Amino acid sequence: MKRRLSLSTKILLLLLLNLTLIVIVFGIFVRVQLRLELESFLLAPARERITSVSRLLALELENTEESKRNELLARNSAAHGVTFYLFRGEGEQVAGPDVDLPEQVRERLRRGRFRGRLPALPLPPAGEPAALPPSSPPFLVVTGNPDMYWVGVRIPLRGPASPETVRGTILISSPRLLTNPFFFDPKPWLGATAAVLLISFLCWLPLIRGIKRSIEQMKQAAERIAEGRFDVRIPTSRGDEIGQLGTAIRRMAARLEGFVQGQRRFLGDIAHELCSPLARMQLALAILERKARGSQANSIADLREEVADMSSLVNELLSFSKAGMKTAEVKLSNVNVAGAIQRVVDREANGTPVHVEADPRLEVTAEPDYLNRSLSNLIRNAVRYAGQEGKIEVSANSAGKDVVIKVADNGPGIPDEALEQIFAPFYRVEDSRDRRTGGTGLGLAIVKSCVEACQGTVSCRNRIPTGLEVEIRLPAATHGGT
Ligand code: ATP
Ligand code: MG
Repeated sequence: MKRRLSLSTKILLLLLLNLTLIVIVFGIFVRVQLRLELESFLLAPARERITSVSRLLALELENTEESKRNELLARNSAAHGVTFYLFRGEGEQVAGPDVDLPEQVRERLRRGRFRGRLPALPLPPAGEPAALPPSSPPFLVVTGNPDMYWVGVRIPLRGPASPETVRGTILISSPRLLTNPFFFDPKPWLGATAAVLLISFLCWLPLIRGIKRSIEQMKQAAERIAEGRFDVRIPTSRGDEIGQLGTAIRRMAARLEGFVQGQRRFLGDIAHELCSPLARMQLALAILERKARGSQANSIADLREEVADMSSLVNELLSFSKAGMKTAEVKLSNVNVAGAIQRVVDREANGTPVHVEADPRLEVTAEPDYLNRSLSNLIRNAVRYAGQEGKIEVSANSAGKDVVIKVADNGPGIPDEALEQIFAPFYRVEDSRDRRTGGTGLGLAIVKSCVEACQGTVSCRNRIPTGLEVEIRLPAATHGGT
């Protein structure tokens, strides 16, 4: 299954990738351009600690007899997880485990000098603790095969027996650098990383949230337009491309509304113009039928039936066009739902059993005639397409600020692929396109127009195991009573 990442997650992941790449590029730059060892850079925060440990050790060495210096270094090695050695002059080992120093380290020991003159260590006044000896900044040598890190700190060296001060070096070695807490303390790095991430996150957050909010608003607007509701509200405060997209969507909605309204007005005008000639034709046919004899009378009766069908189609078209006209022209009032359902059931059921379950106190804001027409169409459909298949159930329930009215049957339902189109004008499922079931395919389109004119929504779904359920959701009446 394809994992869907939200826009904010993608941007934040990109931000992380971006920061990682910057760190890598910076590392390469430090290595190649500045000719500085990355390790030495990473060692920087630990320099202070290495220096102070070395100075303390130097002080202890000063007060330790030569025979006990090995033991002192071994203790320190165990405490810090590294190996300490002591060298004198230009590379003569004084204490620490025997070691065969790599040439680079020897070279470094030979080269190293205190900056300036070697300080003479003053002897502490009697009875006072000795001052910590000075030291040079630590140096780092990295040797390969096997990988080993060597850190050296220059100290002035003097023994309890010999008051003469000579150059000494405390050498510390470890096969690991980054995973050895003595050399590398990850805490400041983790803190710095967290700070960089937090600052980046705080900088980006308002932008990400703004984009997300605007896209969400536009998504909702597009969904509303797809449902045929063009009164979309997209805030105009943004001046960037997203703001322009919002303006374009608003203009598109306005244009589409114009087209749809124009189409409905056109349909309505044609239907309206056809009404009078059809009425005159029906009247003329009725007179002719009275005068006609034999087969002529039969033909005229057939003709009258056709004209009556045409007339009802034209009336449906008129209803459809009228219901789709702008909501502002519709007068909404509080309508009792149970009463409206019962009246429609009494009129449309034609002996088919219909079970009604509606709280008699439920009221909705709607245009009474539109609600009546919607319910009539739904119950007529249920009777027509599922009347033979058992009881029809009509229910009304309160759902938050809305009231949900459901008309459900046990008939064949609608093929899933047709559920989307079923509210389109003149759409009929293939099986029902015969004269026996006789509809024009305008019923559900009228339901949709009427419900939307009352600021409601309509949807339908197939029931399990069979049957269709159409749901009308209308705003509940505001003065209570639910
Ligand atoms: P009209 O209502 O204009 O007389 P119609 O009933 O064919 O004609 P709609 O009410 O819009 O038109 O219904 C469209 C199609 O949906 C119907 O032709 C029918 O195929 C299908 N349909 C509607 N209601 C049901 C239902 N309760 N059970 C099964 N199919 C249904
Ligand atoms: Mg119908």
